[in-house]
Amino acid sequence: MKDLSGRIAALDPGKRELLLKRLQNQADQRAREPEIEEGPPSSPPIARFDVVVLGGGLAGQTLARQIKRARPSTRVLVTELRPHPVPESAHKVGESTVEIGSHYFAEVLDLKHHLTSAQLRKAGLRYFFSSGDNQDVASRVEMGASYFPPVPSYQLDRGRFENTLREENVELGVEFWDRVKAGNVTRDHGMHHVVLERDGSPVTVACTWVVDACGRSGLLKRQLGLARESGHKCNAVWFRLARKIDLDVWSDSPSWHGRISKGLRWLSTNHFMGRGYWVWFIPLAPEATSVGIVADAELHPLSEMKSFELALDWIRRHEPRAPKWWRNIAAV
Ligand SMILES: Cc1cc2nc3c(=O)[nH]c(=O)nc-3n(C[C@H](O)[C@H](O)[C@H](O)COP(=O)(O)OP(=O)(O)OC[C@H]3O[C@@H](n4cnc5c(N)ncnc54)[C@H](O)[C@@H]3O)c2cc1C
Repeated sequence: MKDLSGRIAALDPGKRELLLKRLQNQADQRAREPEIEEGPPSSPPIARFDVVVLGGGLAGQTLARQIKRARPSTRVLVTELRPHPVPESAHKVGESTVEIGSHYFAEVLDLKHHLTSAQLRKAGLRYFFSSGDNQDVASRVEMGASYFPPVPSYQLDRGRFENTLREENVELGVEFWDRVKAGNVTRDHGMHHVVLERDGSPVTVACTWVVDACGRSGLLKRQLGLARESGHKCNAVWFRLARKIDLDVWSDSPSWHGRISKGLRWLSTNHFMGRGYWVWFIPLAPEATSVGIVADAELHPLSEMKSFELALDWIRRHEPRAPKWWRNIAAV
């Protein structure tokens, strides 16, 4: 502290004034931010924890694991709306991990055994830009690795991943309650109280820390009125196919094949890019494929792709090469 005061005193007056202004702005902003309501819980808590994580998806369960590994005596509860185990192959989007995320899963959370044995190694991101009517994949400009990037990343089957996280977290001592809907959060004498709906009845749990990991349902964001409009308007639709889609058979061109070793294109997160859209192909272990369309709503209205049949039709029109190889299409 003494050192900090000394450093502030040593600043020239202009810089000192700027620092004071910044600190004042931060204090004003904090004063304007909505706070969790203070008051006694609506019913006596049925249990107490150090940390309650609302939402047992990827973020909630990885955080619970990280805390429990670092501090085994910390009492952690994860509450999840959906019944567990969740289905494989068709659980959630968010399947293509980036290298920093993979490092976190493999090294910080010690999940390398799961990633290397139950998920697919990812051969980086790959982009195919439009060329004419997009019939000839070999004539499209392709951007992507010609070998496995040295820092590993993985294509995640989110169902498999979240089931494994739950099993291994429970072994570590994390409490996991599924089929539980998290509701209002209040605070009383430094403790948080969370109302949970279990088997149709409300119960309250108490905790020191509460974490909102409910994803898009944005529990605390809604409770505290923190939502903001976004100017970025795009839509996404997706489905999974119960089969491998091997890009290597999309062209007979020897130079196209010569550029990249066999099998590598399939293992990439493949993006087929066009005006105002991209279509993704992500392979999932053991033999499924995640397919999705991300599109600018002004150029490609959602009404043109909002069912499985419409999405297939849309892909047939914009990416005619793709469905050519989808025989016996079956959505997972
Ligand atoms: C189209 C699309 C494509 C994407 N592609 C990628 C990608 O390739 N790679 C990538 O890294 N990311 C991708 N993302 C982002 C990724 O999906 C999310 O960042 C990630 O899933 C967030 O994980 P999460 O745990 O925060 O949320 P979720 O996985 O949604 O988990 C939230 C959990 O909270 C539960 N829940 C919700 N409400 C309650 C409640 N009231 N009480 C209890 N539980 C509740 C839900 O059931 C759910 O299990 C994509 C997103 C979209 C929309």
